[in-house]
Amino acid sequence: MQKPDTNCLRCGKPCRTGTPAPESQAIMEASKGYCTDCMVTRFLLGIESVRNMVEGTPASGRDLVAARRGLGPQAFRLPHIQQAMNTILNWTQLSGTRVDWEQVIEKWNLPWPKTLMAL
Ligand SMILES: [Zn+2]
Repeated sequence: MQKPDTNCLRCGKPCRTGTPAPESQAIMEASKGYCTDCMVTRFLLGIESVRNMVEGTPASGRDLVAARRGLGPQAFRLPHIQQAMNTILNWTQLSGTRVDWEQVIEKWNLPWPKTLMAL
């Protein structure tokens, strides 16, 4: 593994820039950015149904649609959820990335830098 040359802007994890090697915890094609754990989180937050599953939804339409409690990021421990997420990720630039779901769960509620996070 190459020596890390920067840190994730969100969680501080040491990363290596400019390499697609997943074992390098790469920040691909940029001099700074997010580690793969945070990139997976960012990607999943951008899928409305996944975000709703994790975080829940408020009641709407004068309560015609009841509020639903989210499952929390612990849902990513469920094998069938992991399988579905990995299938989706295989169609992204993160294809082939081995996702550390425990890290994704642990970091789920970390704040995002305001200047670089636009979901
Ligand atoms: Zn990170």
